[in-house]
Amino acid sequence: MLHKLYIYEVKYSDYKHVLKKHNLRVTDCRIDVLERFYSKKHALSMKVIETELEGYDRVTLYRTINSFIDKGVLHRIPDESGSASYGICAETCTAEKHSHNHVHFKCSRCGQIDCLSSYSVPVVDLPGYEISDSNLIINGVCKSCNHAN
Ligand SMILES: [Zn+2]
Ligand SMILES: [Zn+2]
Ligand SMILES: [Zn+2]
Repeated sequence: MLHKLYIYEVKYSDYKHVLKKHNLRVTDCRIDVLERFYSKKHALSMKVIETELEGYDRVTLYRTINSFIDKGVLHRIPDESGSASYGICAETCTAEKHSHNHVHFKCSRCGQIDCLSSYSVPVVDLPGYEISDSNLIINGVCKSCNHAN
């Protein structure tokens, strides 16, 4: 029991560190949202965040997520389903610029979206066009669903 508590304390200070590094004030809501993202290790949709953090009202959660996007803590993952998902940013993301270009994978069985941070979106050469950003979502069956077979 004590051991568990100790681990939580360590993590809590890590989350505080993340917030401070991105010039965000430490609030309970921000810590709780961060905790969800770091413990799940995959992207979360607004719906899931709302369900898991019932204690906070929607507006507070939206504001928290938006402040994380502004400051380079989270990034929005475009998804044709209409409900946005968010993933943890790379260490190098700042309020000025999100600096990642990774592929996302959406599982058709569990619906989870993963950030594949070691795979980048291939560069497409389009003469005459100016690309501002590009996204790639690969659909299929994720590792854990595949293992369950
Ligand atoms: Zn980012
Ligand atoms: Zn899956
Ligand atoms: Zn991502």
